[in-house]
Amino acid sequence: MARMDHAPLPAGAERDGEHDYHASLAEIGRALRAWQGPIVVVSHVDPDGDAFGSSLALKRALEQLGKQVVLPLEPPRFLAFLAEDGELSAPLTALPEHALLAVLDVADRGRAAGAPFTGAEKVINIDHHGTNDRFGDIALVAPDKAATAQIVKDLLDAMGFAWTIDVATPCLTGILTDTGNFRHANTDRSVLETAGALIDVGVPYTELTDRLQWRHPDYFRMLGEVMATVDFHLDGRLVTARLTRAMRERIGESDDDSDDFVGLIRYAEGTLVAALLKERDEGVKLSVRSRGGVSAQAICRELGGGGHEAAAGATVQGDMDAALRQLEAATRRELQRQAATANA
Ligand code: 5GP
Ligand code: MN
Repeated sequence: MARMDHAPLPAGAERDGEHDYHASLAEIGRALRAWQGPIVVVSHVDPDGDAFGSSLALKRALEQLGKQVVLPLEPPRFLAFLAEDGELSAPLTALPEHALLAVLDVADRGRAAGAPFTGAEKVINIDHHGTNDRFGDIALVAPDKAATAQIVKDLLDAMGFAWTIDVATPCLTGILTDTGNFRHANTDRSVLETAGALIDVGVPYTELTDRLQWRHPDYFRMLGEVMATVDFHLDGRLVTARLTRAMRERIGESDDDSDDFVGLIRYAEGTLVAALLKERDEGVKLSVRSRGGVSAQAICRELGGGGHEAAAGATVQGDMDAALRQLEAATRRELQRQAATANA
């Protein structure tokens, strides 16, 4: 993604070079191997395939290395099949004593879920979001990696881990979901090679990709309702769809399986920006996607969120109409910026 990622890095941060990347992998590998206490693995709110896949892969690998690992994470329904019974725990209100906290795929610590940071003896931050401010005692932020799961693959290789299918499967899941099955702009040779190596471990690839597309029957009823709200703005360059509280009540569906709706509308011909607006108690959650040099990240940063160049999100206050107006204004500014850059 680095090649797509032209957003400025936080002050003081430098882009990780290959050397720094491998040095950080080695440092994290040493810290994990040496750790005698419990290790708590957490990821971001609304965990997606990469959040869950990278965390589950790391948890299983560390357990195979004899560590005591807790994974307080509730996956979306369509990913729950990846976990064994009893493998996940409820959110922790406090960390155990002498805990190392491994934070995966979390762009900023305010978005971490599952356990508090307070009381952690060591915090390790592993992520691929360009907007990550490199919190933690050791931070490995690699925006050129397509998925945090790709970094976990490199980390476990650096630790000399002997790969097993049960670790390779969630790891490949993170890569598949964050690249949209190798269709998104973050797909490059290195991620394809990483996936190839995981398939070589023995992951049944086509079975996994098929299984990852399975959805609950309610999902399709929700899809119908959401697609009926598709609308175009800004001379057809912005496409939106809405997922309202009323729909959720009618269908009895949580919105945790709906994260690929925006991935469907982004293929509306002529559009540069796609957004799904989800009505929630805490405000309106926007999922934004972009192409053609337009930055979803810039749009979402302006709205108080963040993410990647071509896939970002934010939660804004107010009702759906107010959220749409804010989104339109931020998108108009980003389209103007992009047009000015293209003409320069
Ligand atoms: P999604 O639209 O799928 O929820 O998120 C797209 C990307 O943007 C993901 O990488 C996600 O972690 C990030 N993202 C989503 N919402 C927010 C937010 O409110 N703040 C930040 N910093 N990142 C977000
Ligand atoms: Mn990710």
